Amino acid sequence: MNSNYLELENLITSLGEKKFRAGQIFRSLHLGLDFSEMTDISKQFRERLESQFDAQPVKILKHLESVDGTMKFLFALRDNNVIEGVLMKYNHGYSLCISTQVGCRMHCAFCASGLHGLVRNLEPGEILGEVIAVNRFLGGGIGEKRKVINIVLMGSGEPLDNYDNTIKFIRLISEKNGINISQRNISLSTSGIVPKMFELANENLSINLTVSLHSPFDEERQKIMPVAKTYKINQILDACANYFEKTGRRYIFEYVLIKGENDTQRHAQALINLLGGRPCHINLIRLNEVKENDLKCGTDKDAYRFLGVLEKAGLSATVRRKMGEDIDGACGQLRQRYLEENE
Ligand code: SAH
Repeated sequence: MNSNYLELENLITSLGEKKFRAGQIFRSLHLGLDFSEMTDISKQFRERLESQFDAQPVKILKHLESVDGTMKFLFALRDNNVIEGVLMKYNHGYSLCISTQVGCRMHCAFCASGLHGLVRNLEPGEILGEVIAVNRFLGGGIGEKRKVINIVLMGSGEPLDNYDNTIKFIRLISEKNGINISQRNISLSTSGIVPKMFELANENLSINLTVSLHSPFDEERQKIMPVAKTYKINQILDACANYFEKTGRRYIFEYVLIKGENDTQRHAQALINLLGGRPCHINLIRLNEVKENDLKCGTDKDAYRFLGVLEKAGLSATVRRKMGEDIDGACGQLRQRYLEENE
């Protein structure tokens, strides 16, 4: 499952089978089939593959549906670790938010994903497996028949802390023989790992870069996001400018509004000074309160007032639609519940 088309072709021929078998198998793997379901290859070869490889390393353990149509998935991995993803239905199709690590080592104050630290990185085939599992669940196929058309790498984990596997996943999911999601419809969200942001700009990918900013002040940002002690806001802005220069793609800042912490007039003004005139968009997110910390979400009115200040200064900004609140929609919450219940 970690193989791209060429690698699979080499593998299949090294097992003494004809090259065209790789096409059949690649297609079946991306459709979400287990080897036992691949009836277009011989039983003997199926059994041989089954004894050596893992066709589908990710299984849906549980799914929850919100009143607003958002769905939350709990996935089981082969080593019994669990990860989660969120499916959002938009007018044009489904967007899937997926995890890149089991747990996370960023320990952002508002987030439930890092409560137990990092357990391990996901392999490229496991990140891909999340998409394949949900796409099959929705009755989708590959290529034009896919149901998932948009991916956000914004679930649990820090994608740039699992850099090589994440990049390989992006190439796998956008391969023309597979599900083939356009890179323009893939967004990667980072807490701001500056050297990796520079590396990403040289990968020749056309994905969208999103950065979790959460404060315009380094000192205050460090209190919300420990990683801010290592990478300063100015360095992040340089990395974003470089990304724009290399890819021509505008970047996005995420800003979780936390009541009294980062949502005052002073913060709005500092954001304007920092981001005014840059080719960026600001996504304001109303905090999804989690019981593991005391941070609070302001009112909707507070959020729209903050937005108004940014817009008046000419910044491009939006308040993100609230989704799936009734089903533990925030990062890491569902896995956290599962771990508590199964302890
Ligand atoms: N590590 C990456 C990607 C995962 S977190 C990053 O930091 O960007 C992605 C986003 O999830 C964060 O920016 C934040 O906007 C959101 N998030 C996490 N916990 C949240 C919560 N409790 N409420 C609202 N948004 C949350």
